[in-house]
Amino acid sequence: MVNVGWAERKSSVLSSSSLACLASIPAINLTAGCAHDCVYCYARGYSGFPGEDKVVIYNNILDKLKNELLRRKNKPQAVYFSPSSDIFQPIPEVLELSHSLLEFLLSRDIGIAFLTKGRIPERTLRLLLNHANKVKAQVGIITYDDNIRRIFEPYAARIDIRLKQMATLAAGGVDVKARVVPILPGLTDSFDSIDRLGRAIFHTGVKKAAMSTLFLRPAIEASLRRRISDKSTLDNLLDFYRDAKRIAVHAEHSSVIPLSRPKREEIYSRFRQAARKYAMDLSICGCMNPDIGGTCNITGQWPTNGVQPSLFV
Ligand code: SF4
Repeated sequence: MVNVGWAERKSSVLSSSSLACLASIPAINLTAGCAHDCVYCYARGYSGFPGEDKVVIYNNILDKLKNELLRRKNKPQAVYFSPSSDIFQPIPEVLELSHSLLEFLLSRDIGIAFLTKGRIPERTLRLLLNHANKVKAQVGIITYDDNIRRIFEPYAARIDIRLKQMATLAAGGVDVKARVVPILPGLTDSFDSIDRLGRAIFHTGVKKAAMSTLFLRPAIEASLRRRISDKSTLDNLLDFYRDAKRIAVHAEHSSVIPLSRPKREEIYSRFRQAARKYAMDLSICGCMNPDIGGTCNITGQWPTNGVQPSLFV
C-alpha cells in the first residue's frame, strides 16, 4: 500500500490540460500520485508524479478553490476530476476531501465530470444522485475478470463494485460511460472477454463506452516489468509492442508507443461488434489514436450558455 503525505498546493487548483479532450473545462487533481497504483498508469513519468507508492494530498485545495472561483469573472460550467489521479482513492482523507469539493462545487451549481476506478462512498453517491443532472461519470473498467484486475489495478475497486456503482448512477439519472482503457492485447481483447465485459456493462443500463488500447512510455514499460511477476504474461504483452513506432499524441510535447495501427483496428472492430450486439454507443479515445481519429469526449458535453451565478463564498 502507499505512503500518504500532505503538501500545500502552490499552483492553481483549477488547471487546464494539454489533452485535447480535456480542453473544454478546467480540471482538479486532489493528490499527486494515486493509491490505486495501476500497473499501466499513464501518470507515471509526468512531472508531478511523486514516485512509486506515494500519494501527496493537497491540504489547502478547498480554500484555494474557493479563492480562485471568487477571482474568476465567469465560473466554469463544470470541473473534471482528475487527469493524474483518481477522485475516489481508498484513503479516508482523500474521500473526505473529494466529498467536500464535490459538495462545494455542486452547491455553486458547477457541474462535475469524473473518471474513477474507485469505490464511491455511500454519502458521496447520494450527493451525486441528488444532483444527477449536473454529473457526468466515467467508470474505468478494462475487464470482467477480477484476476486480471488484481494484477493490473491492485488497489482499485473490485469489478462487481464498479458495475454496481454504474447501475446505481445510471438508474439515478447520471450520465454514465464505461471507459475501457487500456485494452490489454492478448489479455482482454479476445471475443470472449470483450463479450463478457459488454454483457456486464449492458446489465448496468449504461449505454455508452469509450476504448483505447494500451500504449507504452518508458515509465509505463518499467512499471510493467517491475510489477508483473508472471514472466510469460509480461513477455506476451510486451511482444505486441516489439516493432512498434512512437507516434505523437494530442497532448503537448507528448508521444507514445502504441500497437501498430492494423492491430488496433482489428481489436477495435471486435469491440464494435460487441457494441452492436449490446446496443452501445462506442467511441475511440482520439487523443491516444490520432492516426485513427474519433473522440471519447471524456468530460462529457456541457452547455456554454448556461446561467452563471456570480456569488461564490
Ligand atoms: S486510477 Fe487512474 S490515476 Fe489512479 S493509478 Fe489507476 S490509471 Fe493511474
